[in-house]
Amino acid sequence: MNDKYNCDVIRDLLPGYIDNILSDTGSELVKKHLGECEECRKIYTEMEEGIGKDDCSADDAIVVDALKKIRKRTNHLKITIGLLVGILFVFLLSFALKIYVIGKPLGTGYMSIPDVIYNEETGQLTVNGRINLYSFHVSKVVWEEDENDPNTVNVIVYYAETIPFAKDKTDFSVVIPNIKGKKVYLACPEYDRMEIYDWRTYHYEEVENLKNKIYGKIPELDEKTDALNCMQGITTVEGIEGISFSVDFIYGKDASYWWFNGMLTTDGEFVPADFEIWISLQEPHKILIYDYQTGEYIDDFSVISDRKPAKR
Ligand SMILES: [Zn+2]
Repeated sequence: MNDKYNCDVIRDLLPGYIDNILSDTGSELVKKHLGECEECRKIYTEMEEGIGKDDCSADDAIVVDALKKIRKRTNHLKITIGLLVGILFVFLLSFALKIYVIGKPLGTGYMSIPDVIYNEETGQLTVNGRINLYSFHVSKVVWEEDENDPNTVNVIVYYAETIPFAKDKTDFSVVIPNIKGKKVYLACPEYDRMEIYDWRTYHYEEVENLKNKIYGKIPELDEKTDALNCMQGITTVEGIEGISFSVDFIYGKDASYWWFNGMLTTDGEFVPADFEIWISLQEPHKILIYDYQTGEYIDDFSVISDRKPAKR
């Protein structure tokens, strides 16, 4: 029984014997041989131990661990990519919004204003214009008081790219509630501005007449140096609209002054007075003095001679 041939057969059967899948006869045969053959028994013990030792599961654990790490990293990567895609999306969306929807202020050279309608009663100004740009459209039109000059209104036209194949909307219209006494500009904050309407220009005679009424009534004001040159705008006093003039005194030998970019420039001596003259736009024209010192409107003109510098 203990010959080489028999041993080879038994050893071939050993894995099946260990896994308990042999037939009863085969199993009996192996069992019997192992009882008799020391060498085969030795191999059997080694095989059985080898399987029982669970070396594989240790390897599995390492593999599983590595897989977990990979999955974790993959998840991190997914989150990172997700975030990046999200940021990119928001960026592209804001970019597209800016390009196609919001737009940016247009330079005045690309616009024409065929129509400006002033309503004498309400003081409302309607500005109808259009932009002269191909494949762009008007995205919005805003008007705002100039931050440096409350008597100036700026109209800002925004233009945006037209989505491919869409029709350009090149006309625009804006209504400014009350521009009495004000100047209206078409403005592009970053580049330039262009005058659309100046209430003073269109009411020049009216303003001159009112000025002359003031000069006639208050001889202390020097007509030669045009003390009322600086018109502040329209203010309402006691429910009546009127024009406010700031008063500046120019004095000294051959003193003169001029306005440059809204700035008073003088080669003589110059004293700004701390009051304004107000004259109503309603007949009979009431004349009042707004005193910055008291913050009140008064009709006592002596305050002017009190504060006017003495002639030299
Ligand atoms: Zn044997």
